[in-house]
Amino acid sequence: MREWLQDPATRSRLRGSLFAGAIGDALGAKTEFDSIDRIREIAGPAGITDLIPAYGGIGRITDDTQMTLFTLEGLIRAHAGTRREQGTFTTAAVAVEQSLQLAYQRWLHTQGVPWERARGPEATSAEPDGWLITNRELFSRRAPGLTCFSELEAYGKTGVRAGMDKPVNNSKGCGGVMRAAPVALWSDDLAEVFRLGAESAALTHGHPSGYLSSGAFAVIVHELLLGKPLLDAVATARVELEKYQGHEEQSVALDQALALAEAGAPTPEKLETLGQGNIGETALSMSVYVALTTTDPNSALLASVNHSGDSDSTGSVCGNLVGAMYGEQALRQDWLEKLELAEVIGQLADDALAEFGGNAPGDDRWYARYPAY
Ligand SMILES: [Mg+2]
Repeated sequence: MREWLQDPATRSRLRGSLFAGAIGDALGAKTEFDSIDRIREIAGPAGITDLIPAYGGIGRITDDTQMTLFTLEGLIRAHAGTRREQGTFTTAAVAVEQSLQLAYQRWLHTQGVPWERARGPEATSAEPDGWLITNRELFSRRAPGLTCFSELEAYGKTGVRAGMDKPVNNSKGCGGVMRAAPVALWSDDLAEVFRLGAESAALTHGHPSGYLSSGAFAVIVHELLLGKPLLDAVATARVELEKYQGHEEQSVALDQALALAEAGAPTPEKLETLGQGNIGETALSMSVYVALTTTDPNSALLASVNHSGDSDSTGSVCGNLVGAMYGEQALRQDWLEKLELAEVIGQLADDALAEFGGNAPGDDRWYARYPAY
């Protein structure tokens, strides 16, 4: 029994992690890859200090948050599917990697790819199922990452699932790590959290820095959800990270973040010495650095998007960290109120806590909401 998932403090941290990730994504949505000089031109001399319009409104999220929600949905469906099969006296577990793949195929469909081409050759369902995809606000293109998009399209044609032992390409883009925070919930076995975090990214990103960043991130978020200090969480993730071949780039990037954190409060110029955040290892290291050098989630969110790199992704990853550290109550209320999909995010978080915390109903309604695969 995973009692800690029923603790109200866990609920605040999980909801905080998902909400803050989405807020960071929205804060950086307008200025992805704009230089810091350009950001200052757009938003004023202090850079981004509040939500600004992007994608036709205030508080609009991007692909980072969309895909994070599908990660969480895929995990819930794998868990619920396994539970139901056990209830009917079969022992076959639902393969969680496949459940995540199909969740991302549903995301691909929201990006305008017809279901017949998105679902993969083995699926026969005439329409995508489950509750999440019924939320029409998800059906919007927000500069989706090309690697994610093209590899999921390829899966739609071939049905061949990639993994760490079968790399799909040599990409170390941040499209894996940016969506991996929910994997923190999957298990209390840190080796398993790391493995699944990495495998979830390896579906689309085949370079070790593209998927090991994701494994490390999932472990860090797991530890933060338990209330552990960030430095301890990073040290714990490093232990798992170093068990994998090709970990060196991520290990060095984390070391650089810890060293830079000694120099006090973050600035765009300091942050940029770590990288651009568009690849796995720097999206994580820059986010860890900002989370270490700030004392509240709202200033961390602003610091995480004010730099010349991939602002929405570092905002999203850093948000997942600081939201878990400080909890939902610490987030700016006006940002929460303006956040797109906030109700869906909160509902999905609560559904996840019910499923993984042992409080989910075992009725047909729940299994229609979260069908296997
Ligand atoms: Mg994005």
